[in-house]
Amino acid sequence: MKSLKVFAPATVANLSCGFDVLGCCLEGVGDEMRISLSDTSGVRITKIEGADLPLATNKNVAGVAVVAMLEALNDTSTGIDIEIYKKIKAGSGIGSSAASSAGAVWATNQLLGKPFTPKQLVKFAMEGERLASGNAHADNVAPALLGGFTLVRSYAPLDVLKLNTPKNLYMTIIHPQIEVKTADSRKVIKSNVPLNKAVTQWGNLGGFITGLFTSDYELLGRSLDDVIIEPLRSILIPKFKEVKAIAIKNGALGAGISGSGPSIFAMSKGKETASKVAKAIEKVYTPTGITFDIHVAAINAKGVSEII
Ligand code: ADP
Repeated sequence: MKSLKVFAPATVANLSCGFDVLGCCLEGVGDEMRISLSDTSGVRITKIEGADLPLATNKNVAGVAVVAMLEALNDTSTGIDIEIYKKIKAGSGIGSSAASSAGAVWATNQLLGKPFTPKQLVKFAMEGERLASGNAHADNVAPALLGGFTLVRSYAPLDVLKLNTPKNLYMTIIHPQIEVKTADSRKVIKSNVPLNKAVTQWGNLGGFITGLFTSDYELLGRSLDDVIIEPLRSILIPKFKEVKAIAIKNGALGAGISGSGPSIFAMSKGKETASKVAKAIEKVYTPTGITFDIHVAAINAKGVSEII
C-alpha cells in the first residue's frame, strides 16, 4: 500500500459537564485527506484545498503530528506526502485542527503497517494541537482517533478511555461564522471553582457517563448541564440562550457550547428530532443576519476511516 484516502471527522469537545475531558466524534462532518508514501524522506504538505492554511510542515498540524510519530519510531528514512481537503473551517469549535492531526497520523500508521494502536496515536496528534493552540490537549484528537465518546481521565500519565455510544444519539451543530478569539474565551473562565458548583458538575459528569453505558437518554439529558464554564463563555456567542432554549423545546436532550465556541451543539434521541431541532435553530438564527452552517450528524463510533 502506497497511498490512502481518509475521512478525518469533526469532533465536539467539552460537552457541557465534561469540560476539557469529554468529547465525541461526528459522522459525515469532516475533512478528507490523502496520505502517500514517497521515495524522498521527510514529511511534506503537498496540497491544501478549501482553506488558507500553511503548507510548511512545521506550521501545519498534520505535518507536526506525523513528524512526532516518525521521531518516536526513530525513523529518518520514510517519506510522507500529505494532501488536505478542508471542509470544516478552522476556529469553528468542531475540531478542525484535530481532524487534520488525527487523519494524518492514523493514515501514516496504516501505511507503515500499524506500529501503533489508535490510543498510542493520541499523543502524536496532540502535538498538532500544541501547534494550533499552544496546549497539547486531547479532547478533540481522542474522539477523532478512537471514535464515539471519549474521556481524557488524566494527562500525566495520559489515560484516554473510549466510552459507549448509544445507538440513537444525534447531534445538531450550528456554526455561526463569527470569530471568538481563543484568548477571549480563555479570559472569561475563572481558575477557581466554588465547591458547590464542582459537586454539581461531577455529579452530572458521572450521570452522563452512566447514561452512555446504559443508553438512558433521559439521564443523558438530565446530566447535560454545565454550571461552571457555560454561564461565563456563552455571553461570547450571539443568541446562545435562545438557541439552547428552542432546541430543548423541540425535543433535544440538551445543548451547550461546542469546544470553545462559537459552534453550539444540541444532542437528540433520533434523527427526526435532531432535524426538527435544526429547523427551529435556523429560525432563531436567520434574523441575526450572521452567516451560519447547520449540521445534523450521527455519532461516529469508528473515528478516522479509510475512504474506499
Ligand atoms: P477548532 O475551533 O475548529 O477546533 P482549531 O482550534 O482546531 O479550530 O484551530 C485551528 C488553528 O490551527 C488555526 O489557527 C489554524 O491556522 C491552525 N492550523 C494549522 N494547521 C491546520 C490544519 N491542517 N487544519 C486546521 N487548522 C490548522
